[in-house]
Amino acid sequence: MARVTLTFDNGPTTDVTPFVLRKLAERNLTAYFCVVGGQLLRGREQVDVASEALAAGHKIVNHSLTHGISLGDDTSGEHARQEIGEMDRFMSEVLGDWGEKLFRPFGRGGSLGPHVFSHKALLELGALGYSVLLWNNVPRDWAEPVAWVETALARLADQSHSVVVLHDLNTGAMEALPRFLDRLLADGHICTCDLPDDCIPMRSGVMAWPEEKLAHLVRADH
Ligand SMILES: [Zn+2]
Repeated sequence: MARVTLTFDNGPTTDVTPFVLRKLAERNLTAYFCVVGGQLLRGREQVDVASEALAAGHKIVNHSLTHGISLGDDTSGEHARQEIGEMDRFMSEVLGDWGEKLFRPFGRGGSLGPHVFSHKALLELGALGYSVLLWNNVPRDWAEPVAWVETALARLADQSHSVVVLHDLNTGAMEALPRFLDRLLADGHICTCDLPDDCIPMRSGVMAWPEEKLAHLVRADH
C-alpha cells in the first residue's frame, strides 16, 4: 500500500477539469491542480473552473505563465520573473488568496534534469516564499490515454508515497480516471494531499534538499 498524491497539470480547461472535479468529489478526494497562465488567460470560464477547484478544497499550484521554455533552458532573470513572478501576481489578481504558494516546474515529458531550474528561477521562488512540488510517477497519460492506468498502478506498487502527474486536458486520458481512482482505492492505497520530502526541494522559500541532491536539476550559469 502506498500513499498517493494526485496532481493534474496544464489546465484548467472547461471541457475536462469539471469532469475531473466531479469524479474526485464523488469519491471524496482532493488533489493538486497545477495551472498555467495561458489557460487562465483564455477567459473568465477558465478562471471560474480554478476558483471552483479551490472552493471544493483542492490546492492550486503555479505551473508557470506560458509553459513554454523550461526554466533551465533560458537561464535569464527576466525569464524566471515572467514565468514565476508574473504568474504569481496574475494568480492573486484573478483567484484572490489561493493558499500556500506552490510551484511546479515543467519540461521534457516529466523527465528530471538540468532543464528543470536555473539559479535565477530558484532565487525568484525563494524570494516569493514558494514551495516546489516535483513528482515521482509520470504514467504519460498524454501519450497512452488508456494504458496509463496500469503504468501508474504498477509504479506505485514499488513506492511508499507516490506523487502522480496527470493532465486535465482534452486527450481522452481522463475518461480512464474513474477506473484509476476505483482501482487505487480498492487496492487499499491512501489518497492524500500530504507531500513526501523527496518531491519538495524547497519549502516556503527555503532550500529543503542538500545542494548536491538539487544540483542535477539546475542548469549551470554561463
Ligand atoms: Zn506541465
